[in-house]
Amino acid sequence: MKIPCLKHQGSDVHFIFLKEQQVDFLCDLCQTNMLDQHQQLDFSKLINIQKALKQPEYLTSKIINSEQLITFLKELYQNDDNNINLQLIEIENIIQQLQIQLTNVQIELQVLQKSYNEFRQQIRENLEYIIKFDEFKRYIDNLQQLQETINPQRISENERNLYFYFKILTKDNLQSTQNKIFNLLEYNNQYMNQENNQFNNLQELYNQFNQQSTAFKNQINPKFPKTIQNTQLITKEFQSKIIDTIIQKSKKQVKKINLIYKWYKSDLNAEKFWNNVDGQDNLLIVFSLQNDTIFGAYSPCKWIKSQNGQYVKDETLSSFLFSQKYSEIYPIKQEGQEYAIYCHTKYGPIFGGVSILSGYYFTFSSNNNDLQILSDFKVGSSNIGMAYQINSSGSLNTLPFGQSEQKIIMCEIFQVSFI
Ligand SMILES: [Zn+2]
Repeated sequence: MKIPCLKHQGSDVHFIFLKEQQVDFLCDLCQTNMLDQHQQLDFSKLINIQKALKQPEYLTSKIINSEQLITFLKELYQNDDNNINLQLIEIENIIQQLQIQLTNVQIELQVLQKSYNEFRQQIRENLEYIIKFDEFKRYIDNLQQLQETINPQRISENERNLYFYFKILTKDNLQSTQNKIFNLLEYNNQYMNQENNQFNNLQELYNQFNQQSTAFKNQINPKFPKTIQNTQLITKEFQSKIIDTIIQKSKKQVKKINLIYKWYKSDLNAEKFWNNVDGQDNLLIVFSLQNDTIFGAYSPCKWIKSQNGQYVKDETLSSFLFSQKYSEIYPIKQEGQEYAIYCHTKYGPIFGGVSILSGYYFTFSSNNNDLQILSDFKVGSSNIGMAYQINSSGSLNTLPFGQSEQKIIMCEIFQVSFI
């Protein structure tokens, strides 16, 4: 495929550049010029035409914005056939080497067995010398040859002979006999220092096999996008935005997001809330108003029952409020991290607020929190912008539920677990 670049004679177009209002064809020279002009060129906006023609998953990844979907598709197109085949061939090579190496180990074991037999034979021969084995055998032979001529006198004669035989070895010379055996073993213990080379090689090869096949299996294990399980309130699209935000802010991979509690209409109150969340962290809390406005918050902070009220600091700066209606995320501010959540058994969940030191006193009527749910779980208020950041585009009327008289009708609480 050849498309000539109109700006550079003799140069072919290789890329498509996605802009807000238009699409440009770029050749290598165009791309280099752009790089020189805009150091911050966003390569994710650049589409390689050849690659796009071969891999629809590559093209798709360029036109969507869900981090999770992009990660999933990226893996698909980076794992191209050549790459995977090469890896498999490497693993198959190792398997062949392993098979040969197993035979080598078998031979090595046979050699070891042979040399052990030789060693044992050598020890035997030396022991025969040390304990005068021939003499012992002679006495037993003598007894056996007596047969019919055996009589008490002959037996006691032989018993005496054997007694002296043992006496010389033990009572008279025990020390010396034992020393001879020690010396013999000391001389032979180099047998034990034999190296198991083939066996060690096998283990090394196996480790290599293990590493490569584990890496291979990981690579061909698709990382499916995570979802928020059993939610009735959050749309697929907004789930993706929430999860992307959690991954981005916490710098951790999400393992699961499980529904732990769900309340509907009159069931909701502060007492039940606190009984169920006390001691839990990484909670994602979602509310729905009568008019289908859906909003909520995520915070890694631990919810702790408190009679007097206390703020919990978010060291990770990963807390955020959100509004599904406006598809907005309101991240915690650096200066607001001390006030990520507020725990007080008299109220429902409260997020953000202002420092008492900065002159405000903590009174709920004065609406000094970014988001607060009162004890009956029916009403609350929001005033985002204190500890949580309001987007430049956000105005008061885009907030989750401002000053309206809308009532909460449903609440879902999820716990996020990380890998
Ligand atoms: Zn060009």
